[in-house]
Amino acid sequence: MSANTPPQSLKTLRPATRLVHGGTTRSQFGETSEALFLTQGYVYESMEAAEARFKGEAPGFLYSRFSNPTVAMFERRMALLEGSESARATGSGMAAVTAALMGQLKAGDHIVAAKALFGSCRYVVEELLPRFGVPATLVDGTDLDQWRAAMRPETKVLFLESPTNPQLEIIDIAAVAKIAHDGGAKLTVDNVFATPLLQSPFELGADCVVYSATKHIDGQGRCLGGVILASEEFIQAHIHNLLRQTGPALSPFNAWVLLKGLETLPLRVAQQMRSATALADHLAAHAGVSRVLYPSRKDHPQHELAMRQMSGGGTVIAFDLAGGKEAAFRFANALQIVKISNNLGDAKSLITHPATTTHQRLTPQMRAESGIGEGMLRLSVGLEDVEDLIDDLNAGLAAL
Ligand SMILES: *Cc1c(COP(=O)(O)O)cnc(C)c1O
Repeated sequence: MSANTPPQSLKTLRPATRLVHGGTTRSQFGETSEALFLTQGYVYESMEAAEARFKGEAPGFLYSRFSNPTVAMFERRMALLEGSESARATGSGMAAVTAALMGQLKAGDHIVAAKALFGSCRYVVEELLPRFGVPATLVDGTDLDQWRAAMRPETKVLFLESPTNPQLEIIDIAAVAKIAHDGGAKLTVDNVFATPLLQSPFELGADCVVYSATKHIDGQGRCLGGVILASEEFIQAHIHNLLRQTGPALSPFNAWVLLKGLETLPLRVAQQMRSATALADHLAAHAGVSRVLYPSRKDHPQHELAMRQMSGGGTVIAFDLAGGKEAAFRFANALQIVKISNNLGDAKSLITHPATTTHQRLTPQMRAESGIGEGMLRLSVGLEDVEDLIDDLNAGLAAL
C-alpha cells in the first residue's frame, strides 16, 4: 500500500465519519488530533534503508516536495471522501488544475472545455496550453451538440465546472463523460461549487476531479490548497511524476488546517445550504430582484438536471437586480454583515459583483452571452445566523 492509498476498512463508513477519522496515522505518542509534521526531509536508519526507500522497495517518505505524513493524511481523507483510489495535494486550486491538465496533455493533443470557467482556469486552457502546442476549443457547456462537434481525433481531455461561476449553470456531467469516452478522451471536473458532499463526478463518469481546497474544504478563509483525485493508474500515468519533479507542493501546515476543515465540512455545508435556500427564496420575493439563480429552486432553468446530479443546491446564490450596476453597488454597499469579497465557501458571507471584478476582463458582449449582467450579484452564504443575514439583505433591498 502506498502512503497515499486509503485503507479498505474506512470505505464502508459514511462520509461524516470518514471526514473525522479517514486517513489518520498516529505517531508513537498516540495523539488524538492529527500531528503536524513540519519537516522538509526524513532520516534513514542506515544506508541500506535509504537505498531501499529510494528504490521503492521499502515504504516511507523521502522529501516533502512530494511526500509528507500530514499531507498524506489530507490526501487519504480526500480520496476516502470522493471515493477515488488516489489523491495528490497541491499548494492551490490553480496548481491542481494546471497539473491535472498539463499532466494529461502533450504537443499535438487537443482540449475541449466549457466557456464558463473560473478565470484562471480559462487562462490555462485558452492561453497557456496553446503555447505548448495544445489547441483549445471552448464550448457552451450546457449544449451537448457543441461538445460533440468540438471533438477531434487528437482530443485527449474534456474539462468543465458545474455549477458554473457565477451563473450557476449546470452541465450534464454524465453526458459529457460519455462524449469524452466515445471519442477516446478523458473528462476532468472542477467540483468546487458543488463541494465533494453534493456531487460525485466519479459516479457520473469523470476520470479526474480537482478542487480548490481554499474554498469549502478550508471553509474559514485561512489557507490556499488544492487536490487532484483519480485512480491510482491515472495518478501514476499523468500526475505523480509531474508534481514530484516540478514541486507545486502543499505546505504541511496548510494540509493540517485543511484536515481539520474536513472534519466540519458536512456541518458547515448543510447549514450554509439551509441558509442559502432561505435567502434565495427571500430575495426572489422582492420586486427589485428580477431573477434568482439557485439550483435547487424550481425556477432554475436546469432544476431537473441539477437535482439529478446534485444532492443539494450548494452554498452560492446569484441574483439580478433590475436597476443594473447602480442598484447592485447600492445594495452591496448597504450590507453590514455580508462582506464584499470575491472569495467563496467561507464561514463569512461574501458578496461580489462579477461584471466589475472576477469577470471584468471579458467584453460586455461576452458577459452578456454568458448571462452575466450589470445587475448580477453573487452571494456566498456563510455561517452567520440566517435571521441576521435576512435583516442584512433587507438593508440592501431598502437601499434600492
Ligand atoms: C477558486 C477556484 C479555483 C482556484 O483555486 P485557488 O485555490 O484560488 O488557486 C479553481 N476553480 C474554481 C471553480 C474556483 O472557485
